[in-house]
Amino acid sequence: MHGGRDPNRPKILMSDLNKVGLLGAGGFGAVELWEHKSTGETYAMKCISKGFIVKTGMQDSVITEKNILFMTNSDFIIRLYETYNSRQSIFFLMEPALGGELYSMYQRKGFYGSEKHAKFYSAGVVCAFEHLHERHIIYRDLKPENLLLNEKGHLKVGDRKRRIETVSTFSRPFVFNRGGARKVTDMGLAKFVIGKTYTTCGTPDYFAPEVIASTGHTHAVDWWMLGVLIFEFMTGSAPFEAPYPMQIYAKVLKGINAVKFPPQLSPQCVDIVKAICQKEPADRLPMLSGGTKNLKAHAWYKGFNWDKFQSFTLDAPFTPKVKSSKDLANFTVHPDEMPQFIDYVDDGSGWDKDFATA
Ligand code: AMP
Repeated sequence: MHGGRDPNRPKILMSDLNKVGLLGAGGFGAVELWEHKSTGETYAMKCISKGFIVKTGMQDSVITEKNILFMTNSDFIIRLYETYNSRQSIFFLMEPALGGELYSMYQRKGFYGSEKHAKFYSAGVVCAFEHLHERHIIYRDLKPENLLLNEKGHLKVGDRKRRIETVSTFSRPFVFNRGGARKVTDMGLAKFVIGKTYTTCGTPDYFAPEVIASTGHTHAVDWWMLGVLIFEFMTGSAPFEAPYPMQIYAKVLKGINAVKFPPQLSPQCVDIVKAICQKEPADRLPMLSGGTKNLKAHAWYKGFNWDKFQSFTLDAPFTPKVKSSKDLANFTVHPDEMPQFIDYVDDGSGWDKDFATA
């Protein structure tokens, strides 16, 4: 297995960084832009209250998140450079993606329905998944909110965002949270998995049937989610959308053939979504022999230059306005989104000891 970290890279010390400003806030922590005092490089720093982690019992998830991000090393995935540990907080020092969230870009610019955009951004997801799956990592929480753009408009798959509460049993109430009230805690959804995993988590709209049925799932769930994402890019809503999660599940279990595809979708688009969103995980297009080549060769991507895309020589369909490596203009933070800070009293268990990498 390839580790994600370059052992020759000099350590980045927290004391060498200065804060530039706020990028965003998730349920778990604020994300700020920081600048290196001597190199001028900027970084996205996520700060998470240790008291809050302990209160919500998320120690293992945060550790998982760190370990998974350190296993990855791809231009399609936000890189984690260092983690730090202070008395009250842990910090993730990450690659910044200053173009902002793809989700808000779609909302603001009205990219829904554009095949050009959908192909480009879904291709980024395909490349990110190839990298993760090679390392036996299932991403499990694909949705436009987890996708960021860099200053060139290239897609970066971010760490999972907490727009819905992690769901481990169906007897627990859901906090359904796409565009609704905000709620926390799906940090560490991605799992290092060989074989099957049985936890249910993610966003209901993107749940694969085997996730709903709790029969165990593999990386085939990520491909299901890609099909849902392409549908959402092309139509502005998810294929199994409904007001309540239970209604969503009923639709998912009925299958993709019961979904009404808007007439403006091209037959190739309908075909790729249907070929991906097969109920049986082994029948999904990239799960068939040939793997992701089947996707790349599908008629919907006809004319799309994967080689140029993968070497970052294909022009992005949209270039965000980013004036400098310190430009925060593509980010707006709502005050109600600021995470809770809870005073941390060290319990002596040492759960946080591996967070000081520099
Ligand atoms: P999260 O805690 O991951 O949900 O992040 C909260 C917000 O911070 C996101 O919605 C993004 O707007 C922003 N953000 C997170 N990671 C990055 C990053 N690597 N680069 C730029 N912005 C980020």
